[in-house]
Formats: sequence, structure tokens, C-alpha cells
Amino acid sequence: MITQSVSAHLDVEYVACDLCGANDFADVIHARDSNWQYHVESPNSSAPPDDRQWRIVSCNNCGLAYLNPRPTLAAIGSCYPPSYYAYAPGSKVARPRGLQLAKRAMRRAVRRRKWPFSLALGVGGKAVFGDPVTQLLGWVPVGSILEVGCGAGTCLDGFKERGWTTFGVDISAAAMEVARSKGHGAWAGDFVDAPLARGSFDVVWMSHVLEHTSSPLHALRKAHAVLSPGGIVVVFVPNFGSVWTAVFRERNWSLDLPRHLYHFTRSSLEQVAIAAGFRVDRLCTKATQKFFLCNIEKSLNENQFEQWVDHKSAMDAMRRCKGVDHLEKFRGWLESLGQGNQLMLIGTKER
Ligand SMILES: [Zn+2]
Repeated sequence: MITQSVSAHLDVEYVACDLCGANDFADVIHARDSNWQYHVESPNSSAPPDDRQWRIVSCNNCGLAYLNPRPTLAAIGSCYPPSYYAYAPGSKVARPRGLQLAKRAMRRAVRRRKWPFSLALGVGGKAVFGDPVTQLLGWVPVGSILEVGCGAGTCLDGFKERGWTTFGVDISAAAMEVARSKGHGAWAGDFVDAPLARGSFDVVWMSHVLEHTSSPLHALRKAHAVLSPGGIVVVFVPNFGSVWTAVFRERNWSLDLPRHLYHFTRSSLEQVAIAAGFRVDRLCTKATQKFFLCNIEKSLNENQFEQWVDHKSAMDAMRRCKGVDHLEKFRGWLESLGQGNQLMLIGTKER
């Protein structure tokens, strides 16, 4: 529980719709920063920098949902505690030895099309070709990848290990130091200001970052500019258009106010990607176990469902459930209904 008194309010600003420029909006949800205590290392001694009811509004012209007012650019940094999870160092890149070297040689041979990909998949399995791009898109020649909002570079580690040329951008200078120490190209600052040559990447990876940017349209335009012709952007964001928005309401883990400045539905994400110049090849929802475990635990902690369930027995059931694949069927079922808690968009920069 939060014990400290609430500090002064942050500087905030009102903004027009990033997608259509209209200044005409309606309230959707009011919510406090209810995730802060989960982001910090010692929840008992820390309060969010601003305990106001933040407002998510929806543009009356195009439907884009966003935080309004929102912390100013100068103030937003204090909304991220130093222990924010994306900045954890993650695993170090393992030194190649023995089996690792054999796997690497095999990957290189296959990537150069010396072996048919399907044969290699059968022999080497997912462990060899299991980078996220291959899992999503099937065969993609290894090339250069830029991760926007890469934190300490944990995701890039997996790409590098599989032969990709890796580059990361993140607002955190400390995180960029860690990424650099692991051999990734790295630049600290706002992505839209990054000094990157046009057409220099084959893939731009943006996992749970677009909702944090001050302008998703500018961020995606920048991604479009730095991609080579035929290059691919992969975007993951929370799905504001799912039934879970209504179920978990202001306690929804995915709102993460005031760190999430935008809240996308299928329609608004697609509109922003098209406005940035992309051809949208795939747009679907993904469900994660973590979302449900976090949300249910959080709601139980805060007694959101106390009229329906006993807190203690529900928590016991949750603990038994953790780490087990009980939720796998449920996950697949949600995705087939388009009700996953995340949206995934794959777009191409046309030649
Ligand atoms: Zn709009």
C-alpha cells in the first residue's frame, strides 16, 4: 500500500489528435496510475509522481484514443521509475562454443540457401531458427534489424545470436550502455531524432513502444524512412478494443497511465500505419498469459471482484496456475475471436 503523501502534480499539456489533427474528443476512461507500485522495487515506500485521475479520450473524428491532458515531454521521465522492467539487463549473449558453433554454422549455411529451409527446420528445430521474425514470418533472409525502445537489448540478443546485424534506440542512456556492451549498435534519445540513414534496415521492430511515443504517426513515418524498400515493420501494442478493456476497466494493467499516451484499436492502429505510408499485410490480436495473471492478481489485490470471489481462495488458485500451461487453450480461443490483449501489425514499405 502507498504510505507516502502524494507529491505535487506534474506539468501537463493538452494535445490535438495525432492522427487527424482534430481537437474534438470525448471521455472514455478516467484512471489513476495503478501500476506504479508494481513497477517499483519497494512498493511500500513509493508513490507515483502524480496521483490524479488521468483521462483517456477518444477523437470524435477518427476514433484514436489518447491521454489528454498528458505529462509534458520534460515531466514524462519522472513517470518511469528507475526499476522499470524494460531496463533490466537481461541475459548476456552466450559465448559460442561446441554445439553453439555447430548451430551457428548450420544457420549460416541455410541462410545462404545451401540447404532447403524446410529440411533445416526438421533437423535443427526451433532452437536454431527460433528468432521472433522467423517465427512470425517464416523464411526471411537474415539482415539488419532496428529495435525501437529496445531497453537493455534483451530482444536484440536473440537476433544477434542468429546472425542479424542489430541496432537499438531507447530514451534511456543507461539502458543503451548495457545494449552497447553486448555488441549492439545503440543510440540514446527520442527515435524521431535518431541520426539513422534512410533505407538502412530490413526490419524495424516496435514491441510495446508506439503507445509510449509522443506522436505514433511521426514514429511510424520515421520507421518507414529508415526501412529499405520492401522492408518490414512489426508493431505490438496493447489492444484497447478488446473485451478486457470493459472487464478490468480502470485497473487494466495495459492502460499503464500515464506512461501509455495512446490506446489503439484494430482500426486506429491500421489507420496510423497507412497514414505513415505502410501497406498493412497482417493485423491480428495476440493473447498472453502474463496479461491475465497480472490483471487478475491486481484486481484481486485491489478487491475489484470481492462481490463475486473470495480473495484468498482465488489467490491460491492463481498460484497453482502460475507457470503451468492451463491458459494455453484459452489463449488460442481468444486469438481466434480477435479478443487477445495485444494487437500485432506487420506492414511493408512498398518498393
Ligand atoms: Zn482524430
